[in-house]
This record gives sequence, structure tokens and C-alpha cells, in this order.
Amino acid sequence: MAKNRWIEIRDSNIHGSGIYAARDTPQGTRIIRYVGRLITKKEAERLAEKEEKAGTVYIFELDGRHDIDGNIPENTARLINHSCTPNCESVQYGREIWIEAMRDIKTGEELTYDYCFDEEEKEHHVCRCGSANCRGFIVKGKD
Ligand SMILES: [Zn+2]
Repeated sequence: MAKNRWIEIRDSNIHGSGIYAARDTPQGTRIIRYVGRLITKKEAERLAEKEEKAGTVYIFELDGRHDIDGNIPENTARLINHSCTPNCESVQYGREIWIEAMRDIKTGEELTYDYCFDEEEKEHHVCRCGSANCRGFIVKGKD
């Protein structure tokens, strides 16, 4: 796992392991890249079905033809939990996906972003982010 001065991994209050701010992080910081295997849409479909059953989905849409499967050990960003009131967002730069600070984040805050909410799949994933405007469901699970 690559060294990254912005983050540390700890047990999460939300779910499993989480990523926490290792230092004060200004809004707009590219904190960590979401890395993974480049896969075709067809592969992604197959994989999504399999991962959905296991309650884990790590697929990111990249463009019209390809997705990224982030379910690889090198992808530390996969540990970032969902929140309905996140402090980070995923931003695409060309073919790279970065998790970026949406606001100033203080040392020790858990990093979260909003997983793409999908009506079809929401019933599979109950959200426990604890934020005041929690929607109650998320699309992706974490373990
Ligand atoms: Zn929530």
C-alpha cells in the first residue's frame, strides 16, 4: 500500500475499517486516487452481479466503454465509507478518479463520500452513516 501523508486507516464508527484525515486537509485537496483494474462494460456487468450478492461493489464508471474495478488490495480508497453528508467526493480527471476534499477537513475526521445512489439496488444496503439527513440506504456496501 502506497504511503499517503493525508490519510490513516483505523476502525470506523460507520463500518469496518475507515480512512481518517491524518492532518488538516484544505478543500479541493486530491487526497487519494481510486485505483483499480480497467474493465469493459460487459465485464463490469458480470462483476457487479457477483459483488452485489456479496454486498460489496467497487466498480466506478469511467467512460462509455470502460469501468474501473477497485476491488484490489492496492486500492486503499476502497476503504472510504459512504455518508449521506460526505466531506469528500469522487472526481474524474481524464482516466483517473480521485477522492477530493469537498470542504476543509480537520485532523482525525473520518473521510466519506457519497456512493452513487441507485434506486434499484438501495434495498440491499442499509446506511448507518448517522448524519442528520441520512437517506437510510446506500448503494454500495463495504467489508
Ligand atoms: Zn446515511
